[in-house]
Amino acid sequence: MTDRTSFQTALIHHDYVAPEGFAAFPQAIHHASTVLFKDVASMRSRNWQDKTAYTYGLHGTPTTFTLEARLAAIENGKHCLLAPSGLSAIAMVDFAFLKSGDDVLIPDNVYNPNRELANWLAHDFGIAARYYDPLIGSGIADLIQPNTRLIWTEAPGSVSMEVPDIPAICKAAHAKSVLVALDNTWSAGIALRAFDLGVDIVMQALTKYQSGGSDVLMGAVITQDQALNHRLELAHMRLGFGVSADDSYLVLRSLPTMKLRFEAHDAAARKIAAWLQTQPQIATVLHPALPECPGHEIWQRDFSGAGGLFSILFDARYTEAQTDRFVDSLKLFKIGFSWGGANSLCVPYRMQHMRRNWPHQGQLLRLNIGLEDPDDLIGDLRQAFDAL
Ligand SMILES: *Cc1c(COP(=O)(O)O)cnc(C)c1O
Repeated sequence: MTDRTSFQTALIHHDYVAPEGFAAFPQAIHHASTVLFKDVASMRSRNWQDKTAYTYGLHGTPTTFTLEARLAAIENGKHCLLAPSGLSAIAMVDFAFLKSGDDVLIPDNVYNPNRELANWLAHDFGIAARYYDPLIGSGIADLIQPNTRLIWTEAPGSVSMEVPDIPAICKAAHAKSVLVALDNTWSAGIALRAFDLGVDIVMQALTKYQSGGSDVLMGAVITQDQALNHRLELAHMRLGFGVSADDSYLVLRSLPTMKLRFEAHDAAARKIAAWLQTQPQIATVLHPALPECPGHEIWQRDFSGAGGLFSILFDARYTEAQTDRFVDSLKLFKIGFSWGGANSLCVPYRMQHMRRNWPHQGQLLRLNIGLEDPDDLIGDLRQAFDAL
């Protein structure tokens, strides 16, 4: 700065550059909308899709590129794009691969906002969305039409927890050049190797285990294929899916402990699920590691673990008012959506409103087993049974 620079300008322009060579474990948090170019030529020559350089905060910073690379590695993928929520990651996939006149197949137990989005695309955007039995397996071949472009899968499906036969669905899809996307949130990419099973596009709600703190909303789409990633990048750019640097940092900070947390959730959930199986008030425990969960054999074949999320069906003799009282009596389990954090949660669902042919009479309750001592959680459930 020259001596003539006004005080006001000096508040904005400064010459100090911190010394190079700083090294530490945490990824630096880069806040930026504007990214600077050293001259016009470098501005003109830079391509926003080239991840060896920077163009605009929306397209990435060292913080978000680092998170993308680490998430791709976890899934054994090559490319990753971040989105501001799990649901927006789902939307990125739909907008990248579907256009008017196309057909998309969706499992009947899909995460409900995915269904809501698909129904909107069907109603207002000329895309056909059809729902299939999540246990259909290779039978999906009969549903594929010439205009079918994409098959969504979710393993296990939300709330009712059926485990689909992903390799069979991928085989049938690929025989007809249809893409398969997997919502792999439940396994966090730890307990299911999606690309090994043939999946083309993996979606994650980082809001869950990757964050682990019940404090971040973020999603990711991961691929191994450059051409697929290119189409996703266009959708990502056109939809303006930026994520915050601070949120990216929070996820990066949680990743080193993710597997340890996941295994702790898994062990506690299986202990509690086994205890719940012995309770006379419970008709069925919908946990993929238990034989009574539809698709259990597929979980055994394809998965190396389970998360902390499962559902229970009460005996049909209990009314909704009674099971609501059970939920209201819980002390450690809080009532709330989302999962993957340290706190145990539960949500009662009215399945008749969510599924086309729901066969069960009893009330359903979804449990997220947090990181509390599982014996304390069993104690909490036991005292709530007394309120039934
Ligand atoms: C939570 C969740 C999502 C969406 O994540 P958000 O960040 O809440 O939008 C998608 N799929 C599954 C299976 C989920 O549980």
